[in-house]
Parts: sequence; C-alpha cells; structure tokens
Amino acid sequence: FTAIHRSFAEQARRRPDRTLFELPGGGSITYGQTEETVRRIAARLLADGVTPGDRVAMQVEKSPEAVALYLATLRVGGVFLPLNTAYTDAEMTYFLGDARPRVLVCSPDRRAEHTGREAEGLVVETLGTSGDGTLLEGDGQHDGDHDASAEDPAAILYTSGTTGRSKGAVLTHGNLASNCEALLQAWRYTSEDRLIHALPIFHVHGLFVAVNMTLAAGASMHYLSGFDTDAVIDLLPRATVLMGVPTFYTRLLKSDRLTSESCASMRLFVSGSAPLLASDAEAFQDRTGHAILERYGMTETGMNTTNPYEGPRKPGTVGRPLPGVEIRVADRETGGKLPDGEVGIVEVRGPNVFSGYWRMPEKTAAEFREDGFFITGDLGRVDEDGHLCIVGRDKDLVISGGYNVYPKEVEELLDAHPGVLESAVIGVPHPDLGEAVAAVVVPRPGRELQVEELLESISGDLARFKRPRAVRVVEALPRNVMGKVQKAELRERYTDLFT
Ligand code: ATP
Ligand code: MG
Repeated sequence: FTAIHRSFAEQARRRPDRTLFELPGGGSITYGQTEETVRRIAARLLADGVTPGDRVAMQVEKSPEAVALYLATLRVGGVFLPLNTAYTDAEMTYFLGDARPRVLVCSPDRRAEHTGREAEGLVVETLGTSGDGTLLEGDGQHDGDHDASAEDPAAILYTSGTTGRSKGAVLTHGNLASNCEALLQAWRYTSEDRLIHALPIFHVHGLFVAVNMTLAAGASMHYLSGFDTDAVIDLLPRATVLMGVPTFYTRLLKSDRLTSESCASMRLFVSGSAPLLASDAEAFQDRTGHAILERYGMTETGMNTTNPYEGPRKPGTVGRPLPGVEIRVADRETGGKLPDGEVGIVEVRGPNVFSGYWRMPEKTAAEFREDGFFITGDLGRVDEDGHLCIVGRDKDLVISGGYNVYPKEVEELLDAHPGVLESAVIGVPHPDLGEAVAAVVVPRPGRELQVEELLESISGDLARFKRPRAVRVVEALPRNVMGKVQKAELRERYTDLFT
C-alpha cells in the first residue's frame, strides 16, 4: 500500500521537471514546483497546530495551491475536508460545527465571515487564486512525511445532499489508494496522459478520481477553473482524456466545433456522477467516433463499477465491478440477494468502501450489512452481460397504489419522444394512490410539445399504473454543480398537484 501523498512525492522526486498543471493563461507548474508548495504549506499547517487526525477544512476556488494544500494535509497526518464553494455562511456554520476542523482555509474575500469562529479555537488561513493568501506566507519547509497506515482517515467528504442533508463520509488512505490503483489499471491511465480537468475539487470525481489518478500516474492536467464549452474544445487537440459529468457532454454536443477532427488526440471520455442521457451517448459517438465510458461511484465508496476500456461499452449501464470490488443486488425489503435481472438495492463491499459517516454511528450501522456490504441506496439490476444498470435511487422510487414504479423506465420512454430533451419522473402525494406518478419534461429547443400526444406515445409501452397522471413542461430541470437532478426539489414544488 502506498498512500496518495507518497505516490505524488515519489513522482516529484523522480521527475521534478515534468508538468503537473497546464494553466489557462499558458503557464505551467511542474511536479517539483508543486512539491515545494506542499512543503511550505505543510510547515504552515504544523505551525498552526495541526496534529495527526485533525481536520483541515478548505473552501476556496480551484487553484494549483488548493491541490498542494490537499497533499500537505495528508503529509502532516491531517484529515482533508474540502467544502463546496457555494455553501453560504449559514451552511458553513453547520459543516464547521459538525467537522470541528483545526484549520479552515478560505478565500480572501470571505475571510471576514469567519472572524467570530476564531474564538472557538479555529485557525483561519486564506488562499486566493493567484498565489496569494496567508497560507503561502512564511518560508518554512517541512519535508517530513506522516507514516499513514491504510486504516487511517485521509479525508472527510460531504455527500452532495441530493436526498437530504449532506453526510460526512470518512475515507481512509487505503480507500483512496486502492481505488486509484484500480482506476489506473481499468482506464490504462499513464504518465503520458494529459487530462482536461474542469470539475470542482470538493467532490470525489474531481479530487479522488481525476487528481489522484493524475498524481499517482505522474501525468499532467489542463487545469480549468470550471467547465466552459469553448475552452474545453480548444484543449481537446492537446489532451488525451476528459472526465466529466453528463452535463459536460450535453453542452459539448451543442457546439458545432465538436467533431471527430477536434478529438483526434483523445483516447478516453469518461462520464459519471449522474446518469448519462442515452441520446447524448449516441450523438457523441456519431459525431466524434468515441463511445463515452460511463462509470458509477459515490462519495462513500469512490468508484464501484466501470464500462470496459477494451470491449464494448454499453450505454445505459455503468459496467462491471472494478478489480477487488464486489457488487450485489438485494431485495429492498428482505435484504436477500436477488438473481441477475431483478431490480433491488445495490450493495458494495471492497477496499474502496469508507469506514463510516463522521459522527453518525447509528446511521453508519444502519447502512452496513453484517457481512460488510454497504447499502448504497441506489436501485439497480445486473444485465445479461454482467453489467450493472442503475435505475434510480431508492428514495426516488414511486409507490403508486402499492405498485413500484421505477422512474428511469418512464423517463427513458419520455426521452425517446422526439419533442423531449429530458425528463424527471417523481412521485407526488395522491389521496387514493398514496403517490401518483408525475412527469416533469423539458422540450427540445424549438419544438412544440403536446402533452396529450406525448402521453399517448408512451402508453403502449407502460402498464397503466406507471403512466404519469400529470405532466409539467419546464425550461430546465433543477440541477446541482455535479449535474444531478434535484428530485427532492421537484417533489416539493409539485407536492400539491393532487391534493
Ligand atoms: P446524498 O447522498 O447526500 O443524497 P448524492 O448521493 O448525490 O447525495 P454523491 O455521493 O455525490 O452524493 O453521489 C453519488 C450518487 O450519484 C450515487 O449514489 C448515484 O445515485 C449517483 N451516480 C453516480 N454515478 C452515476 C451513474 N453513472 N449513473 C447513475 N447514477 C450515478
Ligand atoms: Mg448518496
């Protein structure tokens, strides 16, 4: 077992002149330069009183120094806690109160919000996006290296809060290292790769998939502050891999500049964090010749399954378990293992699975089976090729008149209608049925959508109890930064449809 910060240090020692970050303005930063920054920040953290096990929280815009802060935290034995930059002061009160970090690194422009918190023993540092901030002050150089064991906590990541209040998932050094290793192999990721990094770094996808793989492989990344269609297309000819959420692909497809020529140097497009639209997968293949590789993971487990690098990728599936990861589909009620083909709760066991929710022992106990499988809360089935298909979240399952309706089945039929761009199917309170199926649909731009005709078009393929009883046409579905549709928000919005 080699901890991620050690893999990075080893790359920096072996090839200090290799580029790690390619920056939008044309500048670049090497592994060796990053190592210097890591040492400086590590010295600063030690001076701030960080001892092994202490949390170091970060809420800053994306910068190369933010990655160095991550590595420095691991190096001094701290537990890294990145927070969504969108969180307001009130939300920060919850997260800081819950996680009780020793140090908080914030943006210089939000420094004032935290003044009152210093009284409680919190050390506040700042970090800007142009090499500025108190974190980088001082000329200490710490080159020690905390000897982390695989079981030691490395990070607390809060879940996206799609189904309720965000929970802190405690991930160990072993979780991060094993998942990184499995992904490097599965996707043939090497030091030759040049990744387009346009994801936020406060989630698993941008940090533990994209950054960890790049550091461990000794690869380089085009490091963007966020996703911009033209900026990404400009970089394609100088890149080999893109890791994105589904909305990246929806947006890329809207540009005429996305062509097979622009993708000539690319070898891999990855999608995850939310389901990829089947129509986007198809259109992308037609336009570029590339089959987007879809994978499935979550904050608590890192990556669980992936479509194959070699061999056919099946749209609508998230592929097979990564090496070392076990997946089983269990009955929602009894917890018994279901045969392939049947829909149930997806459960995961393996070295990637987290040690528990931060300060939530009951919740942790409730989400694990006795034999160590973690209950993901996602519904899925295993198809005839052994590929997992995610059909939605258990919490989004609609139970109408006692019958289960899997939203994805209805959404796929709605989406297949030429006038529909995308849809979200939800259950809303209904006096007779308990819940009724409601559909929220986004029309294709420039198309007139007739609700009657839409319902007619899907009725032949759906049992009556699965058919939407109400359809609402909207301009866009509510999404969070990771492109996840906020179904809880939709349920709230339409809760009075039938009552
Ligand atoms: P919370 O747990 O707070 O409600 P969340 O589950 O959205 O939020 P994350 O851990 O960021 O928080 O997201 C993991 C979830 O994202 C998975 O459980 C799954 O529902 C969804 N997901 C990830 N990848 C895919 C995919 N390829 N297809 C479908 N769903 C996916
Ligand atoms: Mg979740």
